[in-house]
Amino acid sequence: MLQRKKQRTSRKITDKSDLFDGVPDDLVVSILCKLSSSVSRPTDFVNILLTCKRLNRLGLHPLVLSKAGPKALAVKAQNWSDSAHRFLKHCVSAGNIEACYTLGMIRFYCLQNRGSGASLMAKAAMKSHAPALYSLAVIQFNGSGGSKNNKDLRAGVALCARAAFLGHVDALRELGHCLQDGYGVRQNITEGRRLLIQANARELASSLNTIVKRQLKQQHQRRLNYQHYAYMTGSGCPLLSDFGCNVPVPEGHPVNVFLKEWFELGVGELGQGLRLCSHRGCGRPETRAHEFRRCSVCGTVNYCSRGCQALDWKLRHKVECGPMERWQEEGGNGNGGDGGAGGMEEVGEAEDLAIG
Ligand SMILES: [Zn+2]
Ligand SMILES: [Zn+2]
Repeated sequence: MLQRKKQRTSRKITDKSDLFDGVPDDLVVSILCKLSSSVSRPTDFVNILLTCKRLNRLGLHPLVLSKAGPKALAVKAQNWSDSAHRFLKHCVSAGNIEACYTLGMIRFYCLQNRGSGASLMAKAAMKSHAPALYSLAVIQFNGSGGSKNNKDLRAGVALCARAAFLGHVDALRELGHCLQDGYGVRQNITEGRRLLIQANARELASSLNTIVKRQLKQQHQRRLNYQHYAYMTGSGCPLLSDFGCNVPVPEGHPVNVFLKEWFELGVGELGQGLRLCSHRGCGRPETRAHEFRRCSVCGTVNYCSRGCQALDWKLRHKVECGPMERWQEEGGNGNGGDGGAGGMEEVGEAEDLAIG
């Protein structure tokens, strides 16, 4: 009797596994493609790979890896390992453009492998990946990885324009400032202002979108009124406050979070005398001393780009900035690092113009 029961149970289990084995590979691959493109963190995807040999094999199918989205690739800096590096390389080989950009940024800024990092970013940029185009623009503006003489402002503007055309908000803002200041391009104040307004409008649209999505999620929690109140009374950042809106801080690209954590948590070391971009959502480090421009008023913050300077001004620095005696004692020349053209007063004024 007991024997019979045992047999039945084991047959049941065998039948179940047969059922999964009966599902054709291409169907499993197509489900895994959907999963890899939509998971909200890498662990969710890795857990599927660990389930069984078959899911592990099919999960590493090039088609699945090529579809992995930014969040599936968003490894945490403190979890960086050879296997994480290998996983990103597999995704790159499978033709995943997002992985090209992510690994390119990590190699360029964290692993000091500038050549390979830049070429991976270029690979993504050639496929019209807007963040890659913008990051390459920042590298050109600063001459990152090279000397001061390697700055190529015109190339920076061209890359920025391409990223802006694809709707990248930071690139739009950067291009607006370049046009306003005649930085790497012939000065055109009207066109510069137009682009800054466009950047603000896009920012507003995307945050409204985020708010609507969040509110839909939160309906179940019956806290809609409180959330709405919080958004309108100052839990976000004061962008576009002139339009009566207080929008939440935009979510950065996962690789920017990686860079920031890499250096701030001490996973990697910043070279002697090098600084991180002071905009909290950026994480880009200097690749040589005095690469980034410094705030011309207080001299205590520095930025990789005009876009970061303008954003941080509105988010935080506006209320912190003030002339510092220490800075004057040091005999600062009022310009950041190697004589960059952007002062904080200038940015504040430009932004006010843009949204006023
Ligand atoms: Zn920055
Ligand atoms: Zn300042």
